[in-house]
Amino acid sequence: MVVIRGLHKAYGAHAVLRGIDLEIAAGEVVCIIGQSGSGKSTLLRCLNGLETAETGHIAVDGVALKTGDDEALRRLRRHVGMIFQGFHLFPHLSVGRNVMLAPTLVRQTARGEAEAAARALLARVGLADRFDAWPDQLSGGQQQRVAIARALAMQPAVLLCDEITSALDPELVGEVLRTVEDLARDGMTLLLVTHEMAFARRVSSRVVFMHAGRAHEVGPPAQIFGAPRTPELRQFLSTLD
Ligand code: ATP
Ligand code: MG
Repeated sequence: MVVIRGLHKAYGAHAVLRGIDLEIAAGEVVCIIGQSGSGKSTLLRCLNGLETAETGHIAVDGVALKTGDDEALRRLRRHVGMIFQGFHLFPHLSVGRNVMLAPTLVRQTARGEAEAAARALLARVGLADRFDAWPDQLSGGQQQRVAIARALAMQPAVLLCDEITSALDPELVGEVLRTVEDLARDGMTLLLVTHEMAFARRVSSRVVFMHAGRAHEVGPPAQIFGAPRTPELRQFLSTLD
């Protein structure tokens, strides 16, 4: 589903990604952990073309990303959904319109069809009754769930989530994590950067520990959290509360 080979990315002289190799199968839930500045966000941003890697190969659902090929980038973006720490809903559009926007604009989905799909997606994230609400009338957790519904509206092959609960008040984290767990159970392919280690341990098929620009240790959650093999990962885990 997702293939990453030999990915290198530097900002000036600062090499952030130094040869990432990772393959993610359909339906896998892969969590990325690692220190601040280890390149987790950069990796996700390369995957949906927000950043351009210097060298390496990326393909999603059989669509390869080629540097400088805008058509390939557009096609790739349709296969990749991304959700960020901030919710970035359009404040001047109702919740329902936020979810309908990309399908009607990018896919030219008919309005009635887009609305029916948006209502179904809002029901899926537990917000069936908020179609006509404005974003600023919702809690942060509800807004983030709208952002999830909006990403799903484009029927992505993979959903990238970058610390999507980090900006939330603690009491709102659970509802968003539960929504993500539901997606995982439904077979959605997910690549998540998270600081929620209990969540990562529970939902991951595999966990990637990023260190020094590489996927330093990759394994099932039982290995990563229960029997880490590298001193760098042991050191990282020992710094968590
Ligand atoms: P965090 O856990 O704090 O979110 P991260 O693992 O997501 O960290 P990145 O945001 O990917 O880390 O950043 C990796 C490194 O690249 C950092 O040293 C950061 O300062 C640097 N960096 C990120 N974006 C840029 C940019 N646009 N220009 C220059 N340097 C950048
Ligand atoms: Mg980050």
